Amino acid sequence: MKVENIQAIRGMNDYLPAETIVWQKIESILQQVLASYGYSEIRLPILEVTPLFKRAIGKVTDVVEKEMYSFEDRNGQSLTLRPEGTAGCVRAGIENGLFYNQQQRLWYSGAMFRHERPQKGRYRQFYQLGVEAFGLSDSSIDAELILLSARCWKALGIMDHIELELNSIGSLVARTAYRQALIKFLETYQDKLDKDCRRRMYTNTLRVLDTKDPYIQQLLDNAPKLSEYLDKESKQHFTDLCTLLDQTKIKYRINPRLVRGLDYYNRTVFEWVTKSLGSQGTVCAGGRYDTLVERLGGRETPAVGFAIGLERLALLFKKVQPCFTASIIDLYFAVLGENTLSIAIQLSETLRNVMPHLKLMTDYRGDKLAKQFTRANKYGARFFLILSKDKLATKQILLKNLSTGEQETLVLVNVVSRLMALLT
Ligand code: ATP
Ligand code: MG
Repeated sequence: MKVENIQAIRGMNDYLPAETIVWQKIESILQQVLASYGYSEIRLPILEVTPLFKRAIGKVTDVVEKEMYSFEDRNGQSLTLRPEGTAGCVRAGIENGLFYNQQQRLWYSGAMFRHERPQKGRYRQFYQLGVEAFGLSDSSIDAELILLSARCWKALGIMDHIELELNSIGSLVARTAYRQALIKFLETYQDKLDKDCRRRMYTNTLRVLDTKDPYIQQLLDNAPKLSEYLDKESKQHFTDLCTLLDQTKIKYRINPRLVRGLDYYNRTVFEWVTKSLGSQGTVCAGGRYDTLVERLGGRETPAVGFAIGLERLALLFKKVQPCFTASIIDLYFAVLGENTLSIAIQLSETLRNVMPHLKLMTDYRGDKLAKQFTRANKYGARFFLILSKDKLATKQILLKNLSTGEQETLVLVNVVSRLMALLT
């Protein structure tokens, strides 16, 4: 009887070794840059109680209205697989007293879950690396986050393929006044709007500005401008940020229509976008959220942060550097004939003892040399060590340098020192 295969859930991907090599490269660069600015890692639960996200993200956002994976656990409590990381980070900060008269620079990385239509760059389980700074209200910290992200793109070699868009959405009061003006404008064009825009018009009004429909975009050219409604302090904050970015030679484009999909933002919003990935072009998005800590029950704490979509970053990285490979192995150890494997295992352990960073793979199959050689090349090995029955009889071993093709016969007792000289 044929048993049916069990398959992964739609929109939830497996990442195989050829892909994880790219991810490890990206993650190690991001972590190194984060460390260079003094950011510390925080690890947070993947499940949180549902009201956390409803209160933080806002009930009328796309995420809460239709994208959350929520369910009741065995005790009947409503839980949600986190759709983003900021809410949980703020919850943890309040719960652990991280915000009392302190500044915190934190980052986290992990899986997020949203029930969206899967397509290139958009999945139901996806990974974000998020960065959050708490307790600092000045625009210099907004600038630091942008500089930090720019440094990541430079280190990854993708800076020429990504652009910074920037806007200020002001205070809540300013936005409320603007919202009224925008609703009034939209009402006069009601019959020309699409379903999404009509739905958002009264609930998540600013999100209408985000429409991808070129016809509606054109209509919006004549809409009232958010910048004309900004409060004085927010305007100054934004000007200061732009000055700092000019001084540090960060290029940006002010996009007056840039808003964010989540409710908690104020003042600075920004996105790093690429034209190289089609319509899923936002690789990194963030902004300021000075009211969120209070909204979740903590003391008033200014905050600003961003999240990188790691799948989109990996897609962009591979597009820009299609030849990127990292070798899995430095040294491949081939064995040929009786009793050679046990000696090879012992010698391999000695080599790992003296060279902890050495990447060494021992062949346990011991089949034809040509096959073992093919495997060595597949893993990108630089050196190929061959222990054959014949050579073992005279206490010798063969070492081949795969980059130069040179080959040498070594006395077994000398092999460790010779490899140390070659590999360290
Ligand atoms: P979008 O407009 O693309 O739906 P968003 O505003 O919902 O993005 P945020 O909540 O700001 O996105 O998340 C930050 C980043 O996380 C995005 O810029 C993107 O790179 C990534 N991201 C968001 N949703 C997904 C998803 N479903 N699959 C893959 N990456 C995602
Ligand atoms: Mg979205």
